[in-house]
Amino acid sequence: MKALCWTGVNETSVESVPDPEILNAHDVIVRVRLSTTCGSDLHLLGGYIPAMRAGDVLGHEFLGDVVEVGSAVRKHRVGDRVVVSSFIACGRCAYCRRELYSLCDNGNPNPAITETLWGFAPGGCYGYSHAMGGFAGSHAEYIRVPYADVGAFAVPDGINDTTALFASDAAPTGWTGADLVGIEPGDVVAVWGAGAVGQMAALAARTRGAERVIVIDRLPERLAQAERYVGAETLDYSAENVPQALRELTGGRGPDVCLEAVGMEAHSAGLQHVYDQVKQQLRIQTDRGAAVREAIHSCRKGGRVFVLGVYVGVLDTFPLGAVMNKGLTVRGAQMHGQRYIPEILARMERGEVPSAHLATHVMPLDDGPKGYQMFKAKEDGCVRAVFRP
Ligand SMILES: [Zn+2]
Ligand SMILES: [Zn+2]
Repeated sequence: MKALCWTGVNETSVESVPDPEILNAHDVIVRVRLSTTCGSDLHLLGGYIPAMRAGDVLGHEFLGDVVEVGSAVRKHRVGDRVVVSSFIACGRCAYCRRELYSLCDNGNPNPAITETLWGFAPGGCYGYSHAMGGFAGSHAEYIRVPYADVGAFAVPDGINDTTALFASDAAPTGWTGADLVGIEPGDVVAVWGAGAVGQMAALAARTRGAERVIVIDRLPERLAQAERYVGAETLDYSAENVPQALRELTGGRGPDVCLEAVGMEAHSAGLQHVYDQVKQQLRIQTDRGAAVREAIHSCRKGGRVFVLGVYVGVLDTFPLGAVMNKGLTVRGAQMHGQRYIPEILARMERGEVPSAHLATHVMPLDDGPKGYQMFKAKEDGCVRAVFRP
């Protein structure tokens, strides 16, 4: 079959690879309908995440049709249209039983690298390096889905493919942040990043009772989407001093909740960005943290900060003093898709989760290398390049 593979730093190509096979009775094989690029792929492409090997198939957010079913699978039949959680979880371990699916003890068959890096290994993820389990990704004609009864969800007929695609990862990532940060009715929520995850986090904040949602980015087309589809207020950080603007918008108090949806390749205005970029490129610091620092700085006293952007290693100039002295709660997580996808699909069916607009550029898989370039450079208003294998 054809698949889009990582072939070296900032290089991808469409290659011919073996078709996936059922390896375990709980697997299904899915013929991919749509598979989207994700901001977190850029860290892989750029070589910031170790344990990529030339020939690894990229992609972790997808939907498709079940074409083969393992003998122990109960929920799915050949022909079902399914959306699949990007994180792989067993559904049975102590973490899964607490609905902390991305922390699954059994989802990553190759835990040594992340145990060394972080102390304990989280679950596995499709197309996300050998550190996250070495699973083949979804930018391919077919993909093996382990623990299919836990991670794959039938898509109701009333939801089109492009909308349902974002129930795989971008929407549940937003839901993970908005739910676990504990939004209370009436809260003012600020969201850093107006990409797919930022927009979905802003929308999820509304479902949890946020009174006002303020989205921060520098790209006008993304800010316009956040206004139109989420009803958010917006701030352009290239034109405004964000902490000061947030203070003015909140009667001098600061937002109650800050959701960071940018990640380790954050951009910002000014000297701090240059400092972070140089350190990251010299591999002295693995993560650029402008958005996290700003979120912590802007948050009201006693407020809550949730990190949704992907970080890998260490970050210096972390404002621990502000965390301690302002009494902040700082939390982060990879997304618990299996916990939120049923709610998201139900809301999608009622038209409450506009997401098809995020797929700004849909193209054949053969155009994958071009699609990644366009997505990385944010050319032509690209929010997500989506491949149709
Ligand atoms: Zn993703
Ligand atoms: Zn588990």
